[in-house]
Amino acid sequence: MDSARTRAWLRTAALYLDRDKDRLTRLDLAIGDGDHGVNMHRGFLAVTAALDEWEQDDLTAGELLIAVGDTLVSTIGGASGPLFGSSFRAMGKTLSAPGPDDDSRRFAAALSAARASVHRLGAAEPGDKTMYDVYEGAVDAFTRVADTGGSLEAAARAAADAADAGVRATELMQARRGRASYLGLRSVGHQDPGAASLALIFHALAHALEA
Ligand code: ADP
Ligand code: MG
Ligand code: MG
Repeated sequence: MDSARTRAWLRTAALYLDRDKDRLTRLDLAIGDGDHGVNMHRGFLAVTAALDEWEQDDLTAGELLIAVGDTLVSTIGGASGPLFGSSFRAMGKTLSAPGPDDDSRRFAAALSAARASVHRLGAAEPGDKTMYDVYEGAVDAFTRVADTGGSLEAAARAAADAADAGVRATELMQARRGRASYLGLRSVGHQDPGAASLALIFHALAHALEA
């Protein structure tokens, strides 16, 4: 994963989050406070604004992702800001450290670190109806393809498909973390907004790598 492809990923993610802002807000209106679409849009707008500046600084993909994490923590806000922020920082740190030579295995390690940081920070378990439900399936799918010699593109496509399945699965779950948990059983029947955002980010990765 080089910095040009990382920038393409981030720009694509920002486009998707902009395009789907109202849908994400509607999901958060149903089981939260209705700000998730705006939160994510604000965060990724700040990232795209900073990308040009970072390009001049000639950052590696790892350094870029750490800077993205810092930007997201300070701009998204809410419960999801620290979670998305720490996950991008964890990815960047992993890519900056020594790791497998193979590109797809290396990125699989970065995604595993992102998942672990969300788990550590948010303490959500699979089935709690959060973005973690997307991390689980998507990172496993990515790693499976990477471990069997698949390309970065193939691994990202498998992760995006698994992310969609993860979002759909949240619909039947009762929320046990975050604001939606206050609704108890009434949270059932709606997709989790943070899971939906994370799936868009995986789709952006697959799309940017295939381009
Ligand atoms: P807020 O709930 O503070 O308004 P957002 O609306 O931006 O924040 O984000 C809500 C999303 O954050 C949820 O849909 C869920 O995916 C995610 N989330 C909340 N709490 C947790 C947690 N403890 N672990 C993982 N994800 C969480
Ligand atoms: Mg909210
Ligand atoms: Mg809020």
